[in-house]
Amino acid sequence: MSEPAPQPAPSGGPRLVHTPDELRAALARAGRTALVPTMGALHEGHRSLMRLAREQADTVVVSVFVNPLQFGPNEDFDRYPRTLETDIVACAEEGVDVVFAPTVNTMYPTEQMVTVRAGSMGERFEGAFRPGFFDGVLTVVGKLLHLVGPDVAVFGRKDAQQLAVVRRMVADLNMPVEIIGAPTLRDPDGLATASRNVYLSAEERVSALFLSRALEAGRRVAADGPDAVRAAAGAVLEEAAEATPPVEVDYLALVDPDTFADVTSGHRGEAVLAVAARVGRTRLIDNVSVDL
Ligand code: AMP
Repeated sequence: MSEPAPQPAPSGGPRLVHTPDELRAALARAGRTALVPTMGALHEGHRSLMRLAREQADTVVVSVFVNPLQFGPNEDFDRYPRTLETDIVACAEEGVDVVFAPTVNTMYPTEQMVTVRAGSMGERFEGAFRPGFFDGVLTVVGKLLHLVGPDVAVFGRKDAQQLAVVRRMVADLNMPVEIIGAPTLRDPDGLATASRNVYLSAEERVSALFLSRALEAGRRVAADGPDAVRAAAGAVLEEAAEATPPVEVDYLALVDPDTFADVTSGHRGEAVLAVAARVGRTRLIDNVSVDL
């Protein structure tokens, strides 16, 4: 007997599926497919990825899964915002076809013994501050790509190092999918939208604005070369360290967008100026592309 044709939810919204079998049934007659992997708590940044995916494909799948493998023991896995009901509304408004929201047990029914290693690229910057983070990200992204089998997958440039390691995994492991990097969406005051922004108090949010300000200061002097860019952004972050509450910088880096290697003083061409910092208990990352 053939599978029943996937039906949209009665509301006309996306079809909500929780298991690989349900996902397979929902995608049985899918044409060109785009996947947007997320951890939920969907905001405007995620929605811009969905819109890009919508332009690329007949069938748009959004995965919502808070992946325990990419959280360190002292990180916020337990308190990470989980808002599936409103996430589904957001997906409906963006014309998403399928929402795949598996449980941890569904994704990891047994210990995940075989994992993807990000290699040296995943041990720098974010990887240095969050050991194992990129291995966890790549392992779940690899699983999602296999489960959905999309033609394209959309990732935000907001997580520039993640985008770079995902591209590298797809190339190194010959995965048959095109990876698309979407521009960073910002609130009108410049703060990059992020699920973790809900943790910020009003005062912390004001301090958090130093991140985008520092990156802009760096970008403005791109014509003067890498050292000038690092110095200009660094000066703003020194001021940020004195703010109340203070911005505690983990790293500021000017790197090659593909390899995440530091660019040398004489470098010309495109680079990524990336910053990570803590404001109160909240860790924030941001970056801009800089044309040197
Ligand atoms: P997350 O749910 O935080 O894992 O993010 C899911 C996807 O959304 C990732 O590809 C992120 O890079 C992307 N994303 C998160 N915030 C933004 C933003 N402000 N602009 C564009 N993409 C974003």
